[in-house]
Amino acid sequence: GATMAKSKFEYVRDFEADDTCLAHCWVVVRLDGRNFHRFAEKHNFAKPNDRRALHLMTKCAQTVMEELEDIVIAYGQSDEYSFVFKRKTNWFKRRASKFMTHVASQFASSYVFYWRDYFEDQPLLYPPGFDGRVVVYPSNQTLKDYLSWRQADCHINNLYNTVFWALIQQSGLTPVQAQGRLQGTLAADKNEILFSEFNINYNNEPLMYRKGTVLIWQKVMLLCSKKNGSQEKRACAHSKLSPLCCLYADVTPVANANQILSKRRGHRF
Ligand code: ATP
Ligand code: ATP
Ligand code: MG
Ligand code: MG
Ligand code: MG
Ligand code: MG
Repeated sequence: GATMAKSKFEYVRDFEADDTCLAHCWVVVRLDGRNFHRFAEKHNFAKPNDRRALHLMTKCAQTVMEELEDIVIAYGQSDEYSFVFKRKTNWFKRRASKFMTHVASQFASSYVFYWRDYFEDQPLLYPPGFDGRVVVYPSNQTLKDYLSWRQADCHINNLYNTVFWALIQQSGLTPVQAQGRLQGTLAADKNEILFSEFNINYNNEPLMYRKGTVLIWQKVMLLCSKKNGSQEKRACAHSKLSPLCCLYADVTPVANANQILSKRRGHRF
């Protein structure tokens, strides 16, 4: 209680910085793999997109959503994932360092824990790390624009990488030559190279590669045993929330998240 004796050392707690996230704002934590260019090479990631790696990232994000409080939506692409906490969350009194470190450590331990389920024949050679940052967005519009920005980044990088690796894998160019070939090209030029030289219609590339992955909550029915001890399973009346993997979804039409993301403006793909 209030009368509990405090040690003379207790004052050092006052040196801790106040990192409370501004009230009523969306709190976003973004993680990004540390030096994953090298990590991808060392672990023989398929280029330009390794599906195992993308699905492992999403498994880790689902784990984060299940283990931590108040995350309403997550968006991932490449070696990054963004987690959006609900505006009124009071988890850890909204302390940014708590949000960021819990997300990053839960994600990183999950990456190692689930590695073998996705990379059956590829041993994990060293412990991967992830950096984290916290950004607060004061309005629904700024949050939507944040997600659009990450998705635009996914699109731009993936279009570039798709042509870059086609030039290397199918035309036998060196990475330096492929880079030179793409210098100064616009999106339309890249689409044209893909179509005329490789017969690839970029719009038919997998959505997960072009747009990234969105996770939202869905209600699922729980299966549980009857109380009378019978082994028979039935659907219970109650439901729980479980992270739904909207793989391949555009950020815009995620129906259950429409209060956040409806009518996204801006980037046209
Ligand atoms: P930093 O530590 O600054 O983030 P980084 O090497 O991780 O450095 P990023 O800009 O984050 O740089 O880029 C991540 C890189 O990881 C990509 O450029 C790509 O080479 C690789 N990568 C990540 N995910 C995949 C994937 N699913 N398939 C193939 N390559 C991937
Ligand atoms: P929080 O998430 O708030 O940190 P917590 O349960 O981790 O909750 P702490 O105050 O950090 O609470 O205390 C860590 C607890 O973990 C200890 O009280 C103890 O029960 C247990 N613990 C940690 N290390 C050891 C250890 N080496 N041996 C036995 N118990 C340990
Ligand atoms: Mg980075
Ligand atoms: Mg990285
Ligand atoms: Mg990255
Ligand atoms: Mg503890």
